[in-house]
This record gives sequence, C-alpha cells and structure tokens, in this order.
Amino acid sequence: MKYTLHMHTIGFDGRNSVAEMVNRARELGFDTIGISNHFIVNPDIKNTKMYSYSVRGGYSNIYSENFDEVLMRFVPLYYEIEHIAEQNPDIKILRGMEVDFFNNTKWLHGFERVMQILNPDYIIGAAHLVEYNGMLTNTHDWKKADKQTQDIFLKNYWNKVKNAAESGLFTFMAHLDLPKKVNLGRDEKWMDYENRAVESVAHTGGAIEINTSFYRSYLYEPYPSNRILEMIKNANVPVLISDDAHEVKNIGRHFDMAHQLITNFHLQTLNKIK
Ligand SMILES: [Zn+2]
Ligand SMILES: [Zn+2]
Repeated sequence: MKYTLHMHTIGFDGRNSVAEMVNRARELGFDTIGISNHFIVNPDIKNTKMYSYSVRGGYSNIYSENFDEVLMRFVPLYYEIEHIAEQNPDIKILRGMEVDFFNNTKWLHGFERVMQILNPDYIIGAAHLVEYNGMLTNTHDWKKADKQTQDIFLKNYWNKVKNAAESGLFTFMAHLDLPKKVNLGRDEKWMDYENRAVESVAHTGGAIEINTSFYRSYLYEPYPSNRILEMIKNANVPVLISDDAHEVKNIGRHFDMAHQLITNFHLQTLNKIK
C-alpha cells in the first residue's frame, strides 16, 4: 500500500504542517497522501468535558458548534492543500476529513450543505463522541464509570458506528473498536454488535481502516482486533492501512505489521476511493 489517508495537521490537533507531512510521506515512498482533520459539529460541544480539555491543550479547533464554524476551518485548509498539491506534482495530495457522525436530520442537512461547498476527495467516518443521558461524552469519560453505565456507552457506541456505516456517507470507517483504548468492549458479548457494524459497512460498499495508532506493549494489535478482522474477511469488506499520524514521526508507523495481518487474514485492500 503506497498511500496513507488518515492524518492530522497544525491548526487542528496535529503537530506538523501539511507541507511537512507531505515531505515526510514522500521520503517514505508514498505516492499518495490524504489530510483528514477532525470535522466535529455539535451544538452542545462547548458544554462538554473534552471541550475544556481541548482549550487547555490548545486544540479546541477540532470542535465546532455549527456548520458555518467548521466551514471557516476547512475552507482555508483545503485552499492550502490545493496550493501545496500544485507545488508538488510528483505526489498525489488529497483533501479528506475525519467526521464524527450524528444521526439526526438537522446534522444530516447541515452536513450535506457543507459537503457541496467543500467537495472532499474522501470522508472518514468516526464515533469519538457518544450521547449518554442527553450528554455528549467521549471514550476517556467512560473509563471511570460503573460497569452498567459502561455497557450503555458501549451499546450506544456500536449503534452509532452501525448508523454511520448505514448512512453510506463515508469512504471508510476509522478505528472500529475505539473503546479498547480505555480497555472497554473486549468481552466476547460485544461480538454481535461488532458483526452488525461490519455487515452495515458491507451493505453500503464501504471500507474499514486498519489503524496502526493502537499498538500497546500489553496488546500488540491495531484497531480493529483479530476477531473483527475475521468478520471483515467474511463480509468481503476492503481494508486500508492508516497511521492516524498527528506528527511526521507517526507516518507509516507499524505498516509492516498491518501488511502482515492483511496477508494472514486474506483481506482485500481498498484500491479506489469514491
Ligand atoms: Zn479518530
Ligand atoms: Zn484521526
């Protein structure tokens, strides 16, 4: 695989500029690179815990209260990407985004409107945020909850992934079993939920990334886990490898291991993006 499509840059929550990411990808031998900053729009976003963390951490630009705000962030970014693409004709540079899906009419209408203006080359679907009791929470908030609450979070998470896949809006789905970041959802009882999500991707002709940002010393695997890779194989869903790079040093990380998984599981790879 000579392309890498999942990465974040300065101005959002990445540490390097688009030009720096492009130069590093070229050094590593990639012929195509895609920039996919966070596209997170929710009217309640500024009342959440993670928003105040992001303000302190200096990356609150990944969150927008409405679609005009997100447009203000993506228009200059896409303009910059196009400019850099013109200066670097030897490498293909694509305009992507990593979108948090919200399953309501208002969000869907706003999303459609903004997509007509931005016209991205590809769209990554993600579920970093899950509604619970009328509140927006993220993966890290679930860590301290009691077991019963964690199960509700997990159910809501998997339903969100399934709905996102069914929307057919996304070129591929990001880090499918994200909750394992905080060691949640490893239980076999979640396999039905995982399978339904994979089936939904299959029905809509989508793809799933093998995200190499999750390699921990205690668990040497990417997102998704081996048991989900088995489901992906059975459902004939194509995969691609993503580094989810937030800085140049992350580009292409652990791609050799991911290639090995593709071979071992006889997975098909995504050859063409929408
Ligand atoms: Zn993500
Ligand atoms: Zn990402």
